[in-house]
Amino acid sequence: MTLRLPFRNLQPNFCSGLFDDPLLLIRQRPLGSNLLFDCGRLQHLAKRVLTAIEAVFVSHGHMDHWMGIDTLTRHVYVTPKTVELFGPVGIAAKLESKLAGYDWNLCEQNWGSYRVHEIGSETIRSHLLSGPDGFRRTELGSRPRSSRVIFENHLLRVAAEPCDHLVDSLIFRIDEQPTFIIDEAFLDRHQLLKGPWIRQLKRRFHRREDLDLPLTVLRCGVDGAEEFRIEDVRGFCREIAAEQRPASIGYISDIGWSAANREKITGLLSGVTLLLCETTFLSDAVERARSSRHLCSADVNRLLEQLRPEFFLPMHLSKSYNRCSSRLYRELQIPSGTTLLRIPDQVTPRPLLQSEFPWQEYRASGPAE
Ligand SMILES: [Zn+2]
Repeated sequence: MTLRLPFRNLQPNFCSGLFDDPLLLIRQRPLGSNLLFDCGRLQHLAKRVLTAIEAVFVSHGHMDHWMGIDTLTRHVYVTPKTVELFGPVGIAAKLESKLAGYDWNLCEQNWGSYRVHEIGSETIRSHLLSGPDGFRRTELGSRPRSSRVIFENHLLRVAAEPCDHLVDSLIFRIDEQPTFIIDEAFLDRHQLLKGPWIRQLKRRFHRREDLDLPLTVLRCGVDGAEEFRIEDVRGFCREIAAEQRPASIGYISDIGWSAANREKITGLLSGVTLLLCETTFLSDAVERARSSRHLCSADVNRLLEQLRPEFFLPMHLSKSYNRCSSRLYRELQIPSGTTLLRIPDQVTPRPLLQSEFPWQEYRASGPAE
């Protein structure tokens, strides 16, 4: 389903149902490329969706969050590009082991590769799994984490925090970058005239370059348009930009209800516009939630009360509640100011039953009558 939310350049799509493996696909509209959060069952996504994936963010290595990497590889390995893959510590060896299960004797120089980044608490360690080299792994080195940000371009910023799920499980925050919107009232107040200088200013702002060089703008003079030199371009950017609050997404899948995890959630996800959160169990199964380090609906209610996102999408409900998803919606307590987003129970195709196999339709072909 497509969510109509207050994003300017991003389009978040939740591509699975309530009981399906969670898949958040974020379309970067101006780039025409996608970011994928979690990588479970994804055979229902079209090749053109998968080949447009620029980066994959895997919360943890449990099958329902990770098995789709084989399908993704099947679609992208002959494409000469490098997919960035972010995951918890150990994910590079897991990917290497998975891909080592295939024969790559026909690999070619123009095949694609994976650059894998393992997100630890203190460091990020990177590896290259090169397609032309049969996806053998080479370590690229590690760098200390100076902030929670793990990926950034001119459209968005992704931050992550490792949480406990008996294994490391990453939670993510995606912030849309502020766009440069000109405040028309400021132009009027200062009698500034539109011209090519606005495009130049926007380019400098987005590329964060040449902001210390003066800029020549146009303004109304006594005898018509005249040039005027701005020395403090950084300050000018702050003044001329219209007020805006970029939208953001919080993504929580599979973590336990521990004090340390809760502290990380509030540190990373306060103020998010849209929260997607696993709600694996209902409140009567709190012990199962605790022992398997998942959240139950009562836990999610407490998080909602604290975070108060504008939009909330519950996901990843245990299949043991199949056919009774209404119980989840009855148990959720949505705070005022938060809009609940509901998704279908299932969107992945139903597997074929034996009675539906195509051979039932085979007919012996005889001579034309
Ligand atoms: Zn899990």
